[in-house]
Amino acid sequence: MKNFCINNGTSIHDALAIIEKNGKGIAVLLNDEGKPARTVTDGDLRRLILAGNTLEDPVSKLPERSSCVGTSDMTRVEALVMMDENEVNHLPIVDHDGFLTDIFDRRTLSKRIHLSAPHMGEFEKQYVEEAFETNWIAPVGPNVDAFEEEMAAELRVDSAAAFSSGTAAIHLALLVLGIKEGDCVFCSSLTFVASANPILYQNAEPVFIDSEPDSWNMSPVALERALSEAKKQNRLPKAIIVVNLYGQSADMDPILELANAYDVPVVEDAAESLGAKYKGKSSGTFGLLGVYSFNGNKIITTSGGGMLVSDDPDLIAKAKFLSTQAREQEVHYEHKEVGYNYRMSNILAGVGRGQLRVLSERIKQRRRLFEAYHEAFKDWPEITWMPEPDWSFSNRWLSVCTINKDTSDVDVRKLMHALSQEMIELRPVWKPMHLQPLFRDAAYFPHSNTSISDALYETGMCLPSGTSMTDDEIDRVTETIKQKMRS
Ligand SMILES: *Cc1c(COP(=O)(O)O)cnc(C)c1O
Repeated sequence: MKNFCINNGTSIHDALAIIEKNGKGIAVLLNDEGKPARTVTDGDLRRLILAGNTLEDPVSKLPERSSCVGTSDMTRVEALVMMDENEVNHLPIVDHDGFLTDIFDRRTLSKRIHLSAPHMGEFEKQYVEEAFETNWIAPVGPNVDAFEEEMAAELRVDSAAAFSSGTAAIHLALLVLGIKEGDCVFCSSLTFVASANPILYQNAEPVFIDSEPDSWNMSPVALERALSEAKKQNRLPKAIIVVNLYGQSADMDPILELANAYDVPVVEDAAESLGAKYKGKSSGTFGLLGVYSFNGNKIITTSGGGMLVSDDPDLIAKAKFLSTQAREQEVHYEHKEVGYNYRMSNILAGVGRGQLRVLSERIKQRRRLFEAYHEAFKDWPEITWMPEPDWSFSNRWLSVCTINKDTSDVDVRKLMHALSQEMIELRPVWKPMHLQPLFRDAAYFPHSNTSISDALYETGMCLPSGTSMTDDEIDRVTETIKQKMRS
């Protein structure tokens, strides 16, 4: 701290030299007891000179200012509030006895660590510029065609169609399967609401299926019970929406076996699992239809967008037709059924093409980040990480863990709040659909006597997982979590 301290006897010249040397644009004036009296910027010193002082005059001529100091146990948010109130950009930090131990600066302190920030590569701009140069802004266009072809090749599926969002793609999947009012649709309960909302768009009736503990995804055991129950009531679902959570495939073999046995088509919500594998094959390509999302926080993004894939080209053609106002092949505008405006723009498809080129790199980075968290908490038995069964290759879209209630009294909600006070964004695991007021009337089939998704929701948290995070930021996250868990 010596590089920052001046006292009333220090000359303006020496004070300026200290500020120059420490590179922070600031010095701390200590009083006779050696405790911080005020901060001094080079602006303060320049004003002294403009007021007629010479460089040799002491800084004691500075006007008095209320000393605003913080303590090291303050949160970042508290320190920032104090800086705002005192209109300063630097805050001297003192120990119990009032002596200077640190200086917080606004720029460093206000750096927020986000859950999953977009991370652009080198080529997105080039594809978007091509769209501008050829004035192919809308509708559709060569980037859309190429993005669809590139996705289909990457995933080894027959056909792909790009839409305005993952939610639109799920809605179109239900539409091409002919799901209508009164039909029943099964859906994983532990998911983001976008998986299930399209069921309501069709005025169909959702039934929610619990997770199993090994993958956190749809429990084949619960699914089997739900199907046999539905069969008894002669109300088999028209589709099963299987969600691949946080970048990990569900256990597709037993799920597909059941779906085939009851002759129900599967729609895979792979919004979070692009690039993940199940037994070596791409997640999202097991169902009759698969859905991906390019929303801003997903592993790759077009700022907003989605994709529907299938090995049945007729289903994809039908989805494209419905997504462009269901316009018949006539010169005039001829319409026989309800259509939607769900197509992806040629500009955004350009962003998607660039992002697709860095997908494998992003997966490596997300997996490496997960490993770093895993390693940092290896001596913390109260933390359990989202498992990856041996049939799974997860893209680790988000690094997710649970806090073991038997061995820890850390309250996950309080922990997340404490981290937010340190400008670190953590999120709870999705609140299951069967617990949502929106779906209060829907049936629910738990894995066993206890509901797995309820427990994951209560004890789970998603850590910052952006691929542009630096090693220092990763350390900041792990150290802050440890510190808050200990206290
Ligand atoms: C993000 C997400 C969606 C929705 O995708 P959008 O592109 O945001 O509409 C659907 N399902 C799951 C599981 C998601 O995480």
